[in-house]
Amino acid sequence: MSFESKNPYTNKVIATYEAHSDAEVNAAIETAHAQHHYWRRTAFAERAACLHKVAEALENQKDDLAQLMTQEMGKTLSGGRAEIEKCAWVCRYYAEQAEGFLTPEPLDSDAEKTLMAYQPLGVILAVMPWNYPFWQVMRFAAPAIMAGNAGLLKHASNVSGCAQAIENLFVQAGCPEGLFKTLLVHSDKVESILKHPHVKAATLTGSGPAGKSVAAIAGSQLKKTVLELGGSDAYLILEDADLELAAQKCAESRLLNAGQSCIGAKRFVVVDAVYDRFLQAFQREMETQVMGDPMNPDTTLGPMARHDLRDELHEQVQQSVSQGARCLIGGYIPEHEGAMYPPTILVDVAPGMPAYDDELFGPVASVIRVQSEAEAIRVANDSVFGLGSGIFSQNRERAEKLAIEEIEAGACFVNDFVKSDPRLPFGGIKESGYGRELSHLGIREFVNIKTVSIY
Ligand code: NAP
Repeated sequence: MSFESKNPYTNKVIATYEAHSDAEVNAAIETAHAQHHYWRRTAFAERAACLHKVAEALENQKDDLAQLMTQEMGKTLSGGRAEIEKCAWVCRYYAEQAEGFLTPEPLDSDAEKTLMAYQPLGVILAVMPWNYPFWQVMRFAAPAIMAGNAGLLKHASNVSGCAQAIENLFVQAGCPEGLFKTLLVHSDKVESILKHPHVKAATLTGSGPAGKSVAAIAGSQLKKTVLELGGSDAYLILEDADLELAAQKCAESRLLNAGQSCIGAKRFVVVDAVYDRFLQAFQREMETQVMGDPMNPDTTLGPMARHDLRDELHEQVQQSVSQGARCLIGGYIPEHEGAMYPPTILVDVAPGMPAYDDELFGPVASVIRVQSEAEAIRVANDSVFGLGSGIFSQNRERAEKLAIEEIEAGACFVNDFVKSDPRLPFGGIKESGYGRELSHLGIREFVNIKTVSIY
């Protein structure tokens, strides 16, 4: 079965790609395994030289790669360029930091000498989503390759062009052939790949059902997984918040990447004392968006990545409205062949509605009114997810304490929205997954932490 890339703005097929056969997949696994055994013995400097070249190639091809993303999944061109720059950053970050993160550490013991050493695991399978088609992959690949592993990528079916472009970057950089390889396969092939004895672990970024399926297969083989799944990030607007700042940051986070960001602000939990003023400012910010062609530099809100995803989102909105939510702006399907959806604000959102319970992966904001800070915290934590979160308050000390002690999430930013950054651990709790990417923790996920004692 082949893969089709369709431009979600024009609704036209732009390319088709042949799927790899089982024999080609097996050959790729064997090659990755063999290359890992070469690569694991190379010096950090050699690996770093390769990643620096990948970073250069990313920068040199920035416009073309951004355009490819725009065509395959509708991201605005400026968003695509920023994504490629960030990929170059993560490559350089790990090229420079990996050796320090993985140098054996001395430990106290009864032995004459004890070390904690870090050794690569082998071939790692990455199952990745379409929303940040380069960034999601590179934030796995850069640390995994620097640690001495090999990588196999099963990318989302609608971004096969991006998937191939990523493999090409590693080839162009002179990395050993097949050390990082894209497998054009459908998700039903993930089981046999993961069960292959040479594949030692998997990382998946995507939805909960996909994560649970991959975790179950990996569990049956006792192979390690890292899961970066969905979120329904709550942002608390407290009584002493700077409301203009809160409205601007909340709207920006909600609409980034046409609302298709796992760490996008999704639920806005606003205390009664400032509810009306926040909502007014928030609506104004949401309405400033320019919806349209993602190739046009003036566009700030392009199409969603696929029509089925847009329709699913609209159903969630309609169901929430039928259960009592009120749609303040948006909430309709525009007359356009593209997968467009307007900035939408739902108020009077309550438990039992998709807008409260589920992830809304598009430009729809759920606003929830609460009476107190204590109720705001309870509502924020009243979710199956626990990825990011935010607090807007001018009492920074108090907000810091709440962020550390009260909020159930993998990250909580005060007076800004959550952003991924190569230097900071990234990941979730509850149904948002487990494990951490980025920082020194990310590179230690796919290594054997080995204790060596010398008597
Ligand atoms: P998705 O449908 O779960 O797809 C993600 C990847 O998993 C794709 O490569 C997909 O392949 C594959 N897949 C789907 N079902 C599978 C299964 N049963 N077994 C093995 N692989 C399977 O998710 P999506 O719609 O692309 O992405 C949106 C979701 O990702 C949202 O929930 C979002 O929050 C989450 N996300 C999380 C993070 C994070 O860091 N926490 C970052 C970005 C996105 P096919 O395309 O071939 O189906």
